[in-house]
Amino acid sequence: MDKTAVVTGAARGIGLATTKLFLAEGRRVAMIDNDTEELARAADGLAGAIALPCDVSDEAAVAALVPAALDALGRVDALVNNAGVADFGPIEGTTFERWRRVMATNLDGVFLMTQAFTPALRDGRGAIVNIASISALRASTLRVAYGTSKAGVAHLTQQQAVELGEFGIRANCVCPGPVRTKLAMAVHTQDIIDAYHDAIPLNRYGNEGEIAEAIVWLCSDKASYITGQRLAVDGGFEATGIGLP
Ligand code: NAD
Repeated sequence: MDKTAVVTGAARGIGLATTKLFLAEGRRVAMIDNDTEELARAADGLAGAIALPCDVSDEAAVAALVPAALDALGRVDALVNNAGVADFGPIEGTTFERWRRVMATNLDGVFLMTQAFTPALRDGRGAIVNIASISALRASTLRVAYGTSKAGVAHLTQQQAVELGEFGIRANCVCPGPVRTKLAMAVHTQDIIDAYHDAIPLNRYGNEGEIAEAIVWLCSDKASYITGQRLAVDGGFEATGIGLP
């Protein structure tokens, strides 16, 4: 039977690029997103893909998603926890409401999806890839909620690898550098864009396809002995030791 994948945040950006790459490699994909209209538009005409609207921070909605995904796919070979929101602000400038909104999607969502899909992943000895960020690897003056949520995702990845390894489930985390998606361009000022350009050894933002390649590879059998890792896909930024702009 064809291999399958569940991808969250699949309506656009990195999640949509990942969906298209999985489809090109012959996987069937359940596309998950809470933006119902954009999800329907994105899935339209994508053979092998099914759109399943869901807010990954809603425990009941995630529980209901599992039978729907299994109905559509029959099995789950890969779970890509990619849905995320950004909110840049310092400690004193971030309300608790904003903090909770970021944690709800970026961290609670990964926990809820992992917990809900573990039985299905166990059956297929599947792979998990969580999308963190270079903000997970280094603190900055601007990303108290976002960076902390992504550091949580990086740690949760190691928890998943250690705890679920005995079932043959691998878990890894991709830490993208900046990519010109709707999420990033809502918070990247021109100053941030210019500073990234100078700080990144390859002197450019990445694109969605470059991040998707790493995600799909980590889900594949080619990465069969890799688990518990954090892979920065960032044009060399992490290697510089320079602080985040
Ligand atoms: P994007 O805004 O283009 O896509 C994010 C998708 O997630 C959207 O379709 C959105 O509707 C969906 N989403 C948001 N909250 C959701 C929820 N509660 N339930 C279900 N779906 C939800 O952004 P992107 O840049 O493609 O982001 C994808 C991931 O990559 C995110 O986790 C982001 O933090 C991470 N990331 C992005 C960058 C970057 O520069 N773009 C860098 C590092 C990490």
